[in-house]
Amino acid sequence: MTVTDNRKHRGFTLSSQPLTPSDPHTDRLLRKREVALGYRIMDSWGWGADGSGHITARDPERLDCFWSLGYGVAFGEATIDDLVLVDDTGHVIEGSYDINPAAFYIHAPIHASRDDVIGAIHTHTPYGTPFSALAVPLPMTSQEAVAFHGRQGVFTGEEVGVSDLETGQRIADALGLGRLVILANHGLLTVGTTVASAIGFYLNAERAAEVCVKVPHGREISSEAADAVHPSVGAENHGWHVFQWLVRSRVSDPTVVG
Ligand SMILES: [Zn+2]
Repeated sequence: MTVTDNRKHRGFTLSSQPLTPSDPHTDRLLRKREVALGYRIMDSWGWGADGSGHITARDPERLDCFWSLGYGVAFGEATIDDLVLVDDTGHVIEGSYDINPAAFYIHAPIHASRDDVIGAIHTHTPYGTPFSALAVPLPMTSQEAVAFHGRQGVFTGEEVGVSDLETGQRIADALGLGRLVILANHGLLTVGTTVASAIGFYLNAERAAEVCVKVPHGREISSEAADAVHPSVGAENHGWHVFQWLVRSRVSDPTVVG
């Protein structure tokens, strides 16, 4: 297969937009594939190699339920058959694995609080976690940071491990209407109106945190300058595009997830 054929095969161009699947079955399959691909993208950087981290996707029909990777499955081996469907009480109602309890306690209140959130991702990363120890919002010191201009919160609770829904609800409250919440002394969490955009914006947040860790006192651009750029890098479609690139560059064969 030529490079040109490969591009056509994956259906991604500059003007591409997320497709709205015409039926719940197709939508569910898309969301599950994006979850599995997201885990493999995390694995490509070694993120979550110790099991820390989770991606969730709201089910298109059972809106109070979400999909995530079964506990114990290596991120780099994730397929759609390894996902479990979890209800709003934390019970696995489809799939043959347990759910990571932290995934339920953190993600369930977020999905319940935000009807617009389809996807959410959290893990512990080389720069996101160190940056989170500052317990402050991302300063606007990079293009990547601007995706979160006016759309980020900080969870300042000291619960660096989340083991109940009450703590998860306070994280959801700190997120508010944003797309990024910085969990102090813990790491980053991003959400999106697609699973793909949540993952794409996670990479933006990690890169923005990298700038902050490497250049702690970098120049911040003005709010007006951030406002001017936000319509492009802050659009949901931008996060979706980043994800398409990540699939291409970090997953050699996206069909392996099923
Ligand atoms: Zn964590």
